[in-house]
Order: sequence, then structure tokens, then C-alpha cells
Amino acid sequence: MKMKKNSPLKHYSSPEQSRGQPVLSSDRPLPRGAKCNRCRGQAEVHLPSHHANFCPDCFIHFVRTAVIRALKEVNFQPRPLMVAVSGGKDSLAVWDLLHQLGYQTKGLHINLGISGFSEASSQAVDDFASSRGLEWSEYCLEDVFGYSIPEVHRLLRGKTCSLCGRLKRAFFNRLTVREGFNTLVTGHNLDDEAGRLLGNLVGKRLEHVYKQYPYLPSPHPLIPAKLKPLYRLEIKELLAYCRLKNITPVQKICSYSRGATSHTFKQALDFLEDSMPGTKRSFLFSYLRDSQLKDRLACEQDGEGQRDRKTEYGLCQECGCPAYAHRCGICSLRQRLGDKEKSKQQRSELKRQHLCLEEQK
Ligand code: SF4
Ligand code: ZN
Repeated sequence: MKMKKNSPLKHYSSPEQSRGQPVLSSDRPLPRGAKCNRCRGQAEVHLPSHHANFCPDCFIHFVRTAVIRALKEVNFQPRPLMVAVSGGKDSLAVWDLLHQLGYQTKGLHINLGISGFSEASSQAVDDFASSRGLEWSEYCLEDVFGYSIPEVHRLLRGKTCSLCGRLKRAFFNRLTVREGFNTLVTGHNLDDEAGRLLGNLVGKRLEHVYKQYPYLPSPHPLIPAKLKPLYRLEIKELLAYCRLKNITPVQKICSYSRGATSHTFKQALDFLEDSMPGTKRSFLFSYLRDSQLKDRLACEQDGEGQRDRKTEYGLCQECGCPAYAHRCGICSLRQRLGDKEKSKQQRSELKRQHLCLEEQK
């Protein structure tokens, strides 16, 4: 989606700088005497989309209740949970909340090999886990896939974030099963989900809307169920939660993060939210709660032309993971990277030989 030259979005500031959104903002504290909606004490957190103010303790209660409600809405039955942890605020917050709520959890971190960023991310996970006595596993993408993200970028320029997302999704699934868990938790929040929904609707990808539901049961013994307990909470609320709970997410920004289209969709929704608090929430929930739409999309998934693809998995002949063809998407990508590397090597060898011949002349 391209922005017009004079688009209001162009001048739109980040949600935390914008009017009407001060959540635990030290430069814009709530006035003395502002009352917490729950206990009537001094409020410190303002939530415009809920028309509510909370004191710190009641705000934490509010966040916990949002997670309990999310789990109840999907009728989630307690079981051990593998939590995908990047070291960012969302993944650390969801891990903290599930642990606090008494769930048996283990963290799973994939080190992408991005200089500076990956070390800092791994350190953030370690600091968080060790201060709470939580167990976690770390795998290097290079070890499990054969290539790190900088190598993927060097060989296939231009689509680094989408390839990284695809690799993370695949290996979080595979490693969850390898570690003996059958449910993978991710820290997707309301802003992520609403932005993704808008992107899917703009791109008319209704079949992807089905995959947005906060709980997706396992479609195959080698693919875990997916759970998104934070889908009712906004980015600002999670930032405030991390600050109040002394959770320190990774501070470094990935060097490949520029220009993701998902940011544009999120910005568009922030713009609407700024003028009409609650829009983002009602936009997302109206789709998630539409049971007729859900049933229709589920039918389409199983409908003509989709059945073979979606429900009858085969196994990849190379790695043994569930696949729709004889080779899975990850092994195809590895092959593509290998071919690219070979042709690069051949080109540089030819260049070297050419230079030698030139020198001999
Ligand atoms: Fe991967 Fe892109 Fe995120 Fe970096 S910004 S970690 S490359 S998805
Ligand atoms: Zn494979």
C-alpha cells in the first residue's frame, strides 16, 4: 500500500506520542485526584479505548483478566506450553503472565545470527528467565536450517523479513514438537492482529483471516496447536505492563526491520484509533466473533480444491516434516539458497580467472 503525498498518515506520529493515548506516560501524568476505576485510588494509567483509568495494581489485574478472558473465550484446557520468545516485550510479557497464572511453561528462542541484535535478544531472554527461575532452550537458525538471516539476506536480497518470518514460524513449530510440547504460544497482540486483518482484507486474502483466530488446534501430530493469549491487549498496554513488572525487553532494533508493510497497516489503524478510541478493538473483534464467517472460512478451508492441500499432509522426503509436496517449503528454500550460493561462487571464480588472464597478458 503506497501512501499519497499529502496523506494524513504521513504526518501521523507514533501512538505513544499522540494525543489521547498516555499510558503510564511520565511526561503526561494523570492529574492528582484522577481515580482508579476499580479501587478509587490515585490512577496512573489511562486507557482511552476502555474509557478507564487504573492505579498500577489494578492495571496489572486488568492485563491478567484480559489474558484469562482470552483463554476462556477459546475454551483453552490447561496443558504444558512452549512459549516462543524473541526477547521483545510481547513474548516476555506473555511468558510472565502465563507463569503468573500457574501454567507450566518453557521458553523457546531462535538465534537468528544478526550481529548485535541476536546477542542482545538472547541476553534479554536469559535475564528474564534466570530472574524468575524459568527454563528455556535456544537454537541457532544456522544450526537447524543451515543459514543465518544475514546469509539469507546476502543470497536472496529484498525479502528478508518475509523469509525470516517464514523460517521462524516453521522452526518454532518443529522445535516445539522436538521438545515434546504440543502447544506453541506466541505474543501476538491486538495491534499485530488488527494490522494483519486489515492487510488480509485489503489484499482479499480471506483464507488467511481463518488463521488469525486466537487458538488453532493442531492439524497434524507434528504441528503444534497455536495460542495467542495477548490478542485482547494493545501494544501500549503491554509496554506499560512490562514497565510496571520490571521486564526489560531487548532494546536493539533489527537492522532488517525497515519498510515492512505491516507497519503501514498498523499506522493506519493507529490514525483511526487516535480520533475514535476503541476502533481497532471493535474492528478485530467484529471479525473474530463472527461465528458465521468463521464457519464459512473453515468450510472453505476444507472445500473443493483445498481439501488435499490442507488436510492430507504428506511428509517431506528430505526432512520428514509435514508437507504438501514431496519436499517441504523449508527444504525448497534451503535448496534455493544452496543453488544461489553455488552460482555466486562460480561467478566469482570466473571473475578471478578472468583477472588472472588479464594480468598475464
Ligand atoms: Fe526477522 Fe525482519 Fe524481524 Fe529482523 S525485523 S527479526 S529480519 S522479521
Ligand atoms: Zn523438508
